[in-house]
Amino acid sequence: MNSYKTIKILDVPVDMVNNQLAMEVFREMMETDGCKLIVTPNSEIVLNATKDLELKRLIEQAGLVIPDGIGLVYASKILGEPLSERVTGVDFLSLILEYLEKTGKSIYLFGSKPANTERASVAELAGAAIKKKHAGLIIGGTRDGYFKKEDEEQIVKEINESGADFLCVALGSPKQEKFIFEHRNKFTNIKVGMGVGGSLDVWAGTAKRAPEFYQKHGLEWLYRFIKEPTRYKRMAQLPLFIIKVIIKGKN
Ligand code: UDP
Repeated sequence: MNSYKTIKILDVPVDMVNNQLAMEVFREMMETDGCKLIVTPNSEIVLNATKDLELKRLIEQAGLVIPDGIGLVYASKILGEPLSERVTGVDFLSLILEYLEKTGKSIYLFGSKPANTERASVAELAGAAIKKKHAGLIIGGTRDGYFKKEDEEQIVKEINESGADFLCVALGSPKQEKFIFEHRNKFTNIKVGMGVGGSLDVWAGTAKRAPEFYQKHGLEWLYRFIKEPTRYKRMAQLPLFIIKVIIKGKN
């Protein structure tokens, strides 16, 4: 068993793991039956969890809660338990892809925009891009993320029939985490399900990750703001989050 500390930020548990430890936990999860959930919350998700009890409960019951985003690094410093290293969802996913390729396990890509007249679905494009880098990786299946509630049983069936071991869900948060959590006991072969936000878009090339300069300085939020100024309302949450952590601390 791996040992790591869990801290509470605004009463939401976050695991104090770096990339290496997170991968060790991931490997263990992949070797045991039953679908486990990995959540990669940023400050916005932690704030949402303080208001959305269903989201909070699923984070509490997740197999691993990886702090993603500079806001949680600041918060951990304020709380006197600084995170040693920031693990971003995207970087962690790269390590996962390497592991899956090496071990011959397969991935299912679920979510993001459907095909249109100009291109295949984002999930399919992401699969093709992954194959370019990891030729040996088995893509069990792909499906876009636009569906009705009544389609969900069919989607679970398709995922099961694909025989995939790892499930990537890109529906935005908290929809993606709720989907995995709600159906976790119906998956027959999936060992780990993880919400991946906009990662399929990044892999597919339909959205670009922030340049290295922004990543290095924890300024990905600034890059996104420059690209999509309409997100300002969501971004205004970061200072609000920090103020709440200063006032309320761990509770
Ligand atoms: N998305 C989806 N179905 C939905 C809503 C969103 O497949 O009902 C996809 C969307 O196309 C995008 C991804 O979810 O590829 C992440 O969306 P967004 O950027 O809004 O989420 P964030 O990661 O910022 O929370």
